[in-house]
Amino acid sequence: MVAETDLPRRQTEAHRPRVVIVGGGFAGIHAADGLARLPVDVTLVDRRNYHLFQPLLYQVALAVLSPADIAQPIRSIVRKRPHTQVLMDEVIGIDAAGRAVTLASGARLGFDYLVLATGATHSYFDHPEWAPLAPEDH
Ligand SMILES: Cc1cc2nc3c(=O)[nH]c(=O)nc-3n(C[C@H](O)[C@H](O)[C@H](O)COP(=O)(O)OP(=O)(O)OC[C@H]3O[C@@H](n4cnc5c(N)ncnc54)[C@H](O)[C@@H]3O)c2cc1C
Repeated sequence: MVAETDLPRRQTEAHRPRVVIVGGGFAGIHAADGLARLPVDVTLVDRRNYHLFQPLLYQVALAVLSPADIAQPIRSIVRKRPHTQVLMDEVIGIDAAGRAVTLASGARLGFDYLVLATGATHSYFDHPEWAPLAPEDH
């Protein structure tokens, strides 16, 4: 059993609802944007430390852009939101009854509200043998 840990949180009023957003893609960043105007504490968790602008991936593949042109640190995107913090970690479990997510680092992160914005995965049209030949998002 994983113990509850003291994950770093900014000093805020105890009664503010805690919102955990999993995923720092378009959906997660958009959710964090909207929630920044509300009296809640937001923790955005992503296994990567950067937001990837996927529509321009092909330009990187063609060497028209460098990878850094389409990847921006999530922390820098939300830096002006005082009640939003970012954790680089992977969510590996959800305890809905206990209102907590389990992180790959071993920590548990409690929430009052959970936003799952983990994106989509690839479809190989019933050909899993194609997967090793294609780029994986991990
Ligand atoms: C090549 C390409 C071109 C595209 N072109 C267009 C376009 O022109 N117009 C358009 O509208 N759309 C386009 N799309 C689609 C668009 O990019 C996606 O719909 C959009 O990025 C999805 O956003 P999302 O937030 O749902 O997911 P994602 O952007 O995939 O974000 C999910 C995030 O969740 C994180 N995550 C996942 N699981 C976990 C976990 N367990 N723990 C912690 N973090 C986790 C991931 O690291 C990721 O950062 C394109 C996509 C691609 C690949």
